[in-house]
Amino acid sequence: MNCIFCKKDSTNSKSVEHIIPESFGNKKHILKKGMVCDRCNNYFSTKIEKEVLELEFFTNIRFRNFIPSKKNRIPRGKAILPKTKYLAEVDLNDGIQVTLDSKSFNLIEKGEITSIIVPYKYDYPKDNISVSRLLAKMAFEMLALRVIKTNKDMIDFVNEPQFDKIRNYVRSNPKNENWVYSSRKIYSENEKFYLKDGKSVDMIFECDFLATNRQELYFVFAYKGIEFVINMAGSSIDGYLEWLKLHNDISPLYRKGSNFGYDLTPEFLKNN
Ligand SMILES: [Zn+2]
Repeated sequence: MNCIFCKKDSTNSKSVEHIIPESFGNKKHILKKGMVCDRCNNYFSTKIEKEVLELEFFTNIRFRNFIPSKKNRIPRGKAILPKTKYLAEVDLNDGIQVTLDSKSFNLIEKGEITSIIVPYKYDYPKDNISVSRLLAKMAFEMLALRVIKTNKDMIDFVNEPQFDKIRNYVRSNPKNENWVYSSRKIYSENEKFYLKDGKSVDMIFECDFLATNRQELYFVFAYKGIEFVINMAGSSIDGYLEWLKLHNDISPLYRKGSNFGYDLTPEFLKNN
């Protein structure tokens, strides 16, 4: 068996590869042992995912939505105390723990402060090299997962030269590139999604591929309503922007004939 990134023998590798980081809330999209070797797996978690997971946008969104890390910890967040304007640290891991200054503490004791305000931070990362490389990594691995599901030969996939560009960008980035990606809000963070039986469920992330008329393949990933799109062939999203114009800016995740995000229908489509 050979690693889909470095192509080296990975028969003795021990780690399964989470296509979408576990700390993003992913439990089931994985590549089995050896598809990504231990060295590549370790590189991705220490050199790419760690930085993305530490971005305030992601820690903040995971804090608000109680999305735990792979070690089952919810990131700490901040809350503002009314009246004193003190910015308190909030830890939700063992009940709710709020670290206070003495002035706020006294006012709470007197019953003059009875609530805290959790600020929303919506400025998602628009130009971040680690986000870009993580998107490329998820794109390539999700493609590998689709290849396995069609029972095609993985040796051909590993040796396919047209993917060398994205492999190198993710694994070593020798030319120090920073591939442009598209990012925008497509639905609200608290959007309700409905199963076929009408039950509502929480949507954390969803993803799909888009093949355009230009013969380009895009990977589309939405996290709590923020859509990120990367071109698997390199640093250009012109074809995607053109596609959006032709399709009234509707996300490829919700285009006609797509799977509506794993058979779930969001509120905004239900009301249409
Ligand atoms: Zn490898």
